[in-house]
Amino acid sequence: MVEPKVIDGKALAAGLRSRVGDIAARLRDEMNLTAGLAAVLVGNDPASQTYVRAKGRACAAAGLGSFERRFPANISEAVLVAEVEKLNADDRVDGVLVQLPLPGHIDARRIIAAIDPAKDVDGFHPVNVGRLWSGLPGLVPCTPQGCLTLLRTVHDDLSGAQAVVLGRSNLVGKPMAALLLASDCTVTVVHSKSRDAAAMCRQADILVAAVGRPRMVKMQWIKPGATVIDVGISPIKLPDGRNRVVGDVDFDAVRTVAGAISPVPGGVGPMTIACLLRNTLLAACRRRGLPDPL
Ligand code: NAP
Repeated sequence: MVEPKVIDGKALAAGLRSRVGDIAARLRDEMNLTAGLAAVLVGNDPASQTYVRAKGRACAAAGLGSFERRFPANISEAVLVAEVEKLNADDRVDGVLVQLPLPGHIDARRIIAAIDPAKDVDGFHPVNVGRLWSGLPGLVPCTPQGCLTLLRTVHDDLSGAQAVVLGRSNLVGKPMAALLLASDCTVTVVHSKSRDAAAMCRQADILVAAVGRPRMVKMQWIKPGATVIDVGISPIKLPDGRNRVVGDVDFDAVRTVAGAISPVPGGVGPMTIACLLRNTLLAACRRRGLPDPL
């Protein structure tokens, strides 16, 4: 058996964060510009709080400004829209992200649509979605952008590759499919209504799994030598009672047939935050008519 390449997302993300940090320092020294990211957090969801804290810490470490706006779970949709509009108008803020999920009485689509597309560092605003699918420059969602960066460490050229994306969410699956299509892959998107997901995955030279079902992708689903990117994050309890986070891929079995594979944790997750920092820097430069810095 040939050992597959385990794609080290942690190391790649550290490299990207350090490049972001260098550019942020240069912008500060040469132009007195500190790019800033504002995170909007509604309610007390512990996972959301952890993600927002991690994003704030990553900004500080890279020398970016970070602002946190916390609101109670019972905030009205109209007031939340008004708060987002305040951040749109704040010149210290280059990126606005609204941590999802939002409480049930708030229509997330309305809140996302209220973000200035030029500050939409999550890339979820319909203007940025349209730009991505039209091949125009815009802000690209961080997780699929991170997956593509991981893929590029294995494949110089993705042209003509059979790519299968497992999952069709607006956050991950759909933008991932758009990025792979733009890289000249032949793309199949598999979802919960698809017939025989396993057979479709077996055709894939590139498989990106983003379903949120722990270890759903089995060894028999993998074409020998394929590159497998695992986006899933699922907390599970081990038989001995310990808690663990696993991905959508049965890593230990799949690694015996894959050519390359990203682990969970330590694969896509760290890249997501690094790409968020990159998007914040891009937004800061583009808003001021400066060339893309990286
Ligand atoms: P989501 O919105 O729940 O979407 C899941 C997708 O998987 C849906 O399109 C669903 O199909 C499909 N699906 C569910 N069960 C399936 C099955 N048995 N067969 C085929 N398709 C199936 O989730 P998401 O936001 O895309 O996130 C997916 C996973 O990635 C989660 O574990 C999440 O925590 C993780 N994630 C990780 C990062 C990171 O930074 N690493 C970032 C974002 C998300 P339907 O559309 O038909 O329902």
